[in-house]
Amino acid sequence: MIKQYVESAKKGAVDLLEQAHKALEETQKINKEYRYSAAFADPVAQAEKLQQQAKDGKAKGRLFGVFVSVKDNICVKGIESTASSAILKGYKPVFNATAVQKCIDEGAIILCKTVQDEFGFGGFSVNTGKGIEKPLNPIDRKRTCGGSSGGAAGLTKKATFPHLALAESTGGSIANPASFCGVAGLTPTYSRVSRYGLIDYANSLDKIGTMALNVNDAALLLEIISGHDPKDSTCSQLPVPSMADVPGVISGLRIGIVKEAFNEQMDNNVRKTILEAVYKLEQIGARRIELSLPLSMNYGLSSYYTLAMTEASTNLAKYCGLRYGASEQLSGTYNEYFSRVRTSQLGDEAKRRILLGTFARMAGHRDAFYTKAAQVRTKIIQEYHMAFKNVDVLITPTMPLVAPTFEELKQLTPLQHYMMDILTVPANLAGLPHISLPCGESNKLPIGIMITANHFQEQKMLQVSNALH
Ligand code: GLN
Repeated sequence: MIKQYVESAKKGAVDLLEQAHKALEETQKINKEYRYSAAFADPVAQAEKLQQQAKDGKAKGRLFGVFVSVKDNICVKGIESTASSAILKGYKPVFNATAVQKCIDEGAIILCKTVQDEFGFGGFSVNTGKGIEKPLNPIDRKRTCGGSSGGAAGLTKKATFPHLALAESTGGSIANPASFCGVAGLTPTYSRVSRYGLIDYANSLDKIGTMALNVNDAALLLEIISGHDPKDSTCSQLPVPSMADVPGVISGLRIGIVKEAFNEQMDNNVRKTILEAVYKLEQIGARRIELSLPLSMNYGLSSYYTLAMTEASTNLAKYCGLRYGASEQLSGTYNEYFSRVRTSQLGDEAKRRILLGTFARMAGHRDAFYTKAAQVRTKIIQEYHMAFKNVDVLITPTMPLVAPTFEELKQLTPLQHYMMDILTVPANLAGLPHISLPCGESNKLPIGIMITANHFQEQKMLQVSNALH
């Protein structure tokens, strides 16, 4: 548990320098086998400063001496931050993302950046940018660790030193890899955490969240990074409730079972395991209520991918070889130059999304695609709000299956990749807080259970999570 470690570190009972050397060596060793980390920070130098503070009796902060890894799309000052894209190679931000700064202010030691799908475009971390190796599942290296926050989840599972991860989800990128790697992944309500310093994928959907080996540690980190930030005008002004150590008391709590999420298309073991967990919750006092979410389950994916790609296509316009990252010999017209840089530096999935997203928002198509998708999103939010009149939380599996092998993934079309997000996308589209936590195994591979709550009701999903463990 992180809290106990922090207490001892503050008292000077932990040799932080030794810890930093150990964390660095271990992460590098894990990296050779599993490829989770991108650029490294200098944890030893940070530990030295903290060690001195502890000696002087000035140690403070809820993360004092804890090692934090940061998904590559979250900016860390002076450390290459590329969102795992070749087009941002060499980009070193001159500022920290607010979430990162809040960790540092609480005494955290920034360890490294973690590998992801390029800009977050994917669910299996197989769409890493040019020249960036794909991370491998911590339990079976022939399998994906999920995505797009694949490196964050893998490192969280493997690290034996006190470690927490900052990750990010647009359509499921925290819950999905948390489920495939067997760790806790927490995605807050949209706007709970500042997006300042996040390399955008789709601004109306992006959420910075957390991962840890257990729920309370992930919740502690989320509590720390949450809260209003004048640097992000979309960031909520609501007060942040206490999230760490929410008691797992659920007597009388109404648990909604989303019928569509338990149909025959789900892996049998996954379905059985989640239903057993629901049974356990009933035994300790929860009320089970079956319900249907037809709009979310039938139209969530199409609405999400239309909106996400549309926003992504405009966000990527700034990467043209002039201002950030990779550049080439200047020649030809601007258009020729931009096209040359983007052709050589962006991956196939990024190009696919630029093309589809641009198409969906072009004059003449906008009403049929972009505007329609936005209207569907509003309807889906209404559907959830109706559901939350009758239940406190919703439960589904996180993913319809356990981590697939890379061979299996190769047989699938891009559309089939997108369809695997069927259970994580609707809550993300509606901006609802959700958690994935390990709930059992199928042939040694972890199964994740997903608990979703209404907007700004993070405490309820934590209550249920803690009751389960
Ligand atoms: N798999 C989804 C996508 O490709 C979600 C990814 C994410 O949350 N970044 O858009």
